Parts: sequence; C-alpha cells; structure tokens
Amino acid sequence: MTVQSVTVLGATGSVGRSTLDVIARSNGRFVVDALAAGKNARALAELAIAHRAKLAVVADERAWPALREALAGTGIATAAGASGLAEAALRPAEIVMAAIVGAAGLAPTLAAVRRGATVALANKECLVCAGEIVTREALRHGARIVPVDSEHNAIFQALHGRVTPGVEKLILTASGGPFRERSRAEMAKVTAAQALRHPTWSMGPKISIDSATMMNKGLELIEAHHLFQMPESRLEVVIHPQSVVHSLVAFRDGSLLAQLGAADMRIPIACALAWPDRLDIATDRLDLASLARLDFQAPDEDRFPALRVARHALRQAGAAPTILNAANEAAVAAFLAGRIGFLEIVATVTEVLERTAVAAPAGVDDVLEIDAAARRMAAAVMAARGAGTTGRSEHER
Ligand code: NAD
Ligand code: MG
Repeated sequence: MTVQSVTVLGATGSVGRSTLDVIARSNGRFVVDALAAGKNARALAELAIAHRAKLAVVADERAWPALREALAGTGIATAAGASGLAEAALRPAEIVMAAIVGAAGLAPTLAAVRRGATVALANKECLVCAGEIVTREALRHGARIVPVDSEHNAIFQALHGRVTPGVEKLILTASGGPFRERSRAEMAKVTAAQALRHPTWSMGPKISIDSATMMNKGLELIEAHHLFQMPESRLEVVIHPQSVVHSLVAFRDGSLLAQLGAADMRIPIACALAWPDRLDIATDRLDLASLARLDFQAPDEDRFPALRVARHALRQAGAAPTILNAANEAAVAAFLAGRIGFLEIVATVTEVLERTAVAAPAGVDDVLEIDAAARRMAAAVMAARGAGTTGRSEHER
C-alpha cells in the first residue's frame, strides 16, 4: 500500500474536519502532514494532536501564543500568518486539501499548485477570483487539481477526470437552498439563523448563506468554467431538492452521465484523495428504494438573481469574477453580522459590479488589489443603503 501524506488548509472547518475523518478511516492509506486554520488555536491544537500532525499553523498571528502553549511538549511545530500558511502549503505532502473559505485561501493554494502538488480543491472562491492564474500555474507546474465541491467532483467522475470533445454540456444540480419556495417578499425578512439552516447539507456559514441566495451555484458555474474549460453557454443549472444526483455530463449523442450519492462530503473528499483509486470506506450509503423519487425543475432567476449576476460576470470575464467574489464575501459577512438584510447581499454585489470596471488581473497581486478595492466599494454601497440599521445578530463569528 502506498501511504500518502495530506496537508489540510482550513482543518477546523466543515470540509477540513470531514477530510480528517476520511484520513482517520483510511486504514493508514493517508497520513496527516500539516494542518492550518484561521484563528481557533484550541480546536486546531486538538486536531493536530489527534491526527499526529507535524506542523500546525494559525493564519491569525494573535492566536499563535495560544497555539504554541497548547502544543508545548508534543513535538508538533507551529507557525502563524501568511508565511506560516505558505510553509504549510510548501511542505512536501503529496496532497494538499484546499479548504480555507474565501479568497484568503488563494495564496497558500497557489503555493501548493506551484510546487506541483496534487490539490484537492474545495476552496471554490480561489477559482472564482483567480481562475485563469490558478489553472495556468497548475498546467505549468504539473499540479493536478481534483475538485472536491460535490457538483464538480460528480462531473470529474463522470468524465473520468478528462474533458473530451464528445461533451455537449455540463449540468450542475442545486438543492435550491432553504428558501427554494419563498417569494422575494418573504426572503426580504429572513434572519441569518433561518438562512443558515440548509435543507440537505451541513456546511460552514459562508457557503450556507451562498446556498440560500444561490450565489453558491453562481460561483460554481465560474468554478466549472475553469475546471473543465467549458464556456458559459454550455453550463446549465437544474434545481434538484433531494441533493442525490450531484451533477451530470451531457454528451453529443444524447447520453447523460450522473454521479449519485448521499449528501455526505466525505464521499467527494474520499474520491479526491484516492483518485484514480477508490477508498474502501464507511461513508453514508444511498438507499434508492427509500428515496422513491427524484425531482428536477428549472431555476427561477427572478427570485434568485445571483445566478444571472454570476453568469454575466463569467461572460464579462476580466476582473468581473474577482469583483463578484469579493463583494459577495463582504456582503455575506455583513448579513451574518446583522448589518444588512438578506436581499441586500445580491443587490450589493450587483451594484459593486455595475460601478467598477477593471482590466483582467495579470497576476496574484492584481487579484488581491481588485479584491480589496471591491470590498471597500461593497462597504460604501452597503453604508449608502443604510447598513447597520437591521440590528445585531448572534451569528457574528
Ligand atoms: P468553514 O467556515 O466551515 O471552514 C473554513 C476554514 O477556513 C476553517 O478552518 C477556518 O479556520 C479557515 N479560515 C477562515 N479564514 C481563514 C483565513 N483568513 N486564513 C486561513 N484560514 C482561514 O467552511 P467550509 O464549509 O468547510 O468551506 C470551506 C471551503 O470549501 C469553502 O470555499 C466552501 O465554499 C467550500 N465547500 C464547502 C462545502 C461544505 O460542505 N462545507 C462543500 C463544497 C465546497
Ligand atoms: Mg457545491
């Protein structure tokens, strides 16, 4: 048995913890190398000890002393800040799980790509904000990117890892989120707690809100474009409330190939780590007979304009996807903090996109600059719309 080491960026998050669970159940097929997280030193230290990590890294330097203290005498090295994240990404682990949330994951993910690692990619925002750069660098350095996002992993499996000329289009399924059947008037009043309650998946707060606005599917259209070199016109979205069919590939002869499975991220994670092998692992199994039926319907872009906005940004290309992602991150944070209403998230993104026209980013520094400017613009747009008047929320993290 070949043993492969895995570094997990975003180890304390939903995908990070599921990844560590898959590794722990892999009977020694995978071992942990480095673990990195945002600022929760205690949770990170516990995971580092439990999974015998060699290095633990917190992005927030203020959390470093607590991490050092928690790991004193264990022999586990520690680091912090952007250089610490880079150190984790640059260690010689065969596989890097990129599971940091947001554009914050771009630099370490790119560092892993540039040393030619196999990158299991959950961090979709880094493909949305810098897709051309990430895929170009992967090609140049021979890094393999294996998608972890369930839809893209489904497509990757249906394609056996390779896009062929026989592909007509890619069909991404979407659960429709917790407000699938709500009117705009009802959505105007929803709270962060309601928006965080996803019907089929248990996930981190940012992607849960993205699922409720359906911006998640918009980001995933852009992600699919970069992963599978598919133009916007050949990417489709279909609502599938049960989250059993994780996505499909349509071929030129009329064949459709789909991947099905329980709504359990450990399945695409196990696939991404072991590809092209299959792990023998006790993930949740699908019981077809008890499912009885599967439903599909067209998405409603009037109630969920995020899809239209993201498609437009993808067609525009240039800096538009970078701006879309940054404005969305800022607006989602403001909604979670109780500073803006639910419908203001996508309205803010739309307004920021309308007000900014920037050339395509040539490199990572450009991306970071455009990202920062879009966040500032989003803050100004939200302030002008009267942000801060909706009261405080308990969901500030
Ligand atoms: P999460 O909020 O549960 O976890 C995020 C992780 O990133 C945590 O470990 C956190 O400490 C770390 N982090 C946050 N800010 C950081 C920073 N500035 N620097 C370094 N680390 C930082 O999020 P999640 O749900 O696990 O999602 C992670 C990524 O995977 C997102 O891009 C999301 O879109 C994608 N994804 C998640 C799921 C899912 O089921 N949760 C499914 C598909 C894709
Ligand atoms: Mg997804």
